[in-house]
Amino acid sequence: MSETFRAILISRDEARNQSVDIVEMTPDQLMDGDVDVAVEATTVNYKDGLAITGKAPVVRHWPLVPGIDLAGTVITSSHPDWQAGDRVILNGWGVGETHHGAYAGRARLNGDWLVALPDRFTAMDAMAIGTAGYTAMLSVLALERAGMTPDRGPVVVTGAAGGVGSVAVALLSGLGWHVIASTGRTGEADWLRDLGAAEIIDRAELSEPGKPLAKERWAAGIDAVGSHTLANVLAATRYGGAVACCGLAQGMDLPASVAPFILRGVSLLGIDSVMAPKQRRVEAWSRLARDLDASRLRAITTEIGFEAIIDAAKEIVEGRIRGRVVVNMR
Ligand code: NDP
Repeated sequence: MSETFRAILISRDEARNQSVDIVEMTPDQLMDGDVDVAVEATTVNYKDGLAITGKAPVVRHWPLVPGIDLAGTVITSSHPDWQAGDRVILNGWGVGETHHGAYAGRARLNGDWLVALPDRFTAMDAMAIGTAGYTAMLSVLALERAGMTPDRGPVVVTGAAGGVGSVAVALLSGLGWHVIASTGRTGEADWLRDLGAAEIIDRAELSEPGKPLAKERWAAGIDAVGSHTLANVLAATRYGGAVACCGLAQGMDLPASVAPFILRGVSLLGIDSVMAPKQRRVEAWSRLARDLDASRLRAITTEIGFEAIIDAAKEIVEGRIRGRVVVNMR
C-alpha cells in the first residue's frame, strides 16, 4: 500500500544515543499483526514519557513507534473477533515497548490484545481514561476482591493529581468512599475536591522514612508512588486493610517492614495492567463505563494534538501534567 501516515519514531545510534523524530511511514513498515486500526485517539502516560525521554528502559526494540494506548476503528482484520468498522481499545501488551505503538496514524496489532470500545465512550473518552484510568479501575477491583468496602473507613490515594491518582479519586468517591488524596500539588486542592476528594494531605507527610507501624488512618489505599510513600501508607493502614500497589513515581524501592502484614493483617495487592488477562480488561472497561462520572472525566482531561505529544511526554516525567492528557489524532 502506498498511503502514508505520520508517526513518532524513537531510534538509537551505535553509541546508544536516543533520538525522537516525527516521520512519515507506510503500512508495510508496521510489525506483524492480524488487525489494522486507524488510530483516532491516544494519550500520554508516565511510561510514554519515560520512553520518549529515554529516562528508563521502556523501549526494547529500535526503531520503535512509542505509545502504549490507543482507540480507533478497525480498517482490516483476519482475526475472528474483529471486522472492519469495529471500534476498539488497546492498552499495553508491550505495544509502545517492543511493538510499534499508538503514536502513528495506523497500528497493526494482535486481535487478542483488543477490547471493544464500550458504547458509552468515544475514542477520546477512552483515551482520557487510558492505561492510567484502566489501572486505577484494576486497583479498585483488586480492593473489592480483597473485601474492601466504603463502610470500613477512608481510602488514601497517592499521586492524586496524576493520571492514575485522579481517576482513582473520581472512581472511589463515586463508589461512596471517603477519599484522602495525597499530593505534592496542594494548589490543586480545589480541583481534587471537585473530583471527589474529601480530604487533601501533603505528600511530604508520607514521602520521608517513617516508623514500621503508625497510627491507623485508612482502611485501604491505592498507591501510584512506591518507595517510602508506600511504606508509610502500609504502616498507617487499619487492621485487616488492603493497599493496591500500582506505581513507582517516587521510586521502585519499598523500604518497609513486615509489621503491617504480620501485626495488622494488612494485604499488599500488586497491580499490572500490561499483561492483565483479557477477561480482567473487559471487566475493568465495563466497570469504567458504569462507574466513571462523565463530568469528572472531562474535569481531569486536557486535549492536545499529535505535534504536542513529545513536549507532553517531557512534562509528565517532570510531574507537570495534571490529570490526563488525551491526544486527538484526527
Ligand atoms: P503521572 O505522572 O500522571 O502521576 C504520578 C504522580 O505521582 C504525580 O502526578 C505526582 O502526584 C506523584 N509523584 C511524582 N513524583 C513523585 C515523587 N518523587 N514523590 C512522590 N510523589 C510523586 O503518572 P501516571 O498516573 O500515569 O502513573 C503513575 C505511576 O503508575 C507511574 O509510576 C506509572 O509508571 C505507574 N503505572 C503503572 C501501571 C501498572 O500497570 N502497574 C499502569 C500505569 C501506570 P502529585 O502531583 O499529586 O503529588
